[in-house]
Amino acid sequence: MTAPKRRPKVRLKAKMPAAVLTALRRIELASVPVPEPGPGELLLRMTAVGLCGSDLHYWRCGRIGDQIVKLPQRLGHEPAGLVAAVGRGCRRGFAEGQAVAIEPGVWCGACLACEGGRQNLCYGMRFLGAPGEAGALQPFLVMPEANVEPLAPRVDPARATAAEPLGIALQAFDLVKLRAGESVAVIGGGPVGLCVAALAQASGARVVALSEPRAARAKAARALGAQAAVDARPEALIEAARAATGGYGADVVVECSGAAETLNTAILAATRGGRIAVVGIPEVDSIPVDPHHWRRKELLIASVRRSNRTLGRALALLERNDLGLAKAGYFSKLLGLEELQGAFEDLDDPASRAIKLTVDPSRALG
Ligand SMILES: [Zn+2]
Ligand SMILES: [Zn+2]
Repeated sequence: MTAPKRRPKVRLKAKMPAAVLTALRRIELASVPVPEPGPGELLLRMTAVGLCGSDLHYWRCGRIGDQIVKLPQRLGHEPAGLVAAVGRGCRRGFAEGQAVAIEPGVWCGACLACEGGRQNLCYGMRFLGAPGEAGALQPFLVMPEANVEPLAPRVDPARATAAEPLGIALQAFDLVKLRAGESVAVIGGGPVGLCVAALAQASGARVVALSEPRAARAKAARALGAQAAVDARPEALIEAARAATGGYGADVVVECSGAAETLNTAILAATRGGRIAVVGIPEVDSIPVDPHHWRRKELLIASVRRSNRTLGRALALLERNDLGLAKAGYFSKLLGLEELQGAFEDLDDPASRAIKLTVDPSRALG
């Protein structure tokens, strides 16, 4: 395709409503300027943005460790939508109206991490909705075209929002080198935990146990093929993992809950020589570790930092029948920006029946 060289021809309204965190536990709509695409950038109309555990962390605590938001802060980093305008100098052939998914991390390309191929660890990373950066919970967003991937006709933008949590599952299994036939235990059945379970099953591994206190999410885990969906007591997961593996424990344990004590649960649920991927984001600044079981088992423990250029692979997997996520009830109906405060309150409620909440910011344009 030839590179479109025209300027955006749509005259946009100068202002748009954006969801802004104005205080702890308070999200409101504010009027902000519509961004303009610079050279090599696309203006994107946000039609589906998934709400993530890290958004909820910022809403609840205003910080993740030493990453502290300065209010007001815009949130959201699981976006998909339509190309609204193509900036000058774009070369990838995007056309207005095309459905796309978006990689939320913009890396520098020049630091040691980027040069080593680990762009997710970039020293100059700019990440959508992170402290100081605009988020995707607004009707329009500008991104470099390198961060944008076209969607196959089978995958609509609402489905494509699962590419971000699924990318984290890919990253976790890349790091611990999951093999077909292995046993996997998952701690936490939130959106990422469910994507981990779905990907494990699709990779030919067996999810022998998944722990999740919320009934709707436990039910989704069972629908995705988890052999046992158990409550959040450490013993429940450890027992289920051992029972399914002749007493040995799981080859791979993926921690997706962020609860403080779960690294020890993972250590006890893993087999000797097993691997643990730590995905969940704790709210505390220090977590307990039982050094004796960890040491004796010769475990490999990998921390997972978002995902490294997994968008294309995640989209290819979503094309394959969503890995069963849709059937398991993962996707909800789309909410409007004005429903966000209620959505965060719902996700924060231990009795919530929500699995994943997704917002359509473009609806605010009427
Ligand atoms: Zn996320
Ligand atoms: Zn870099």
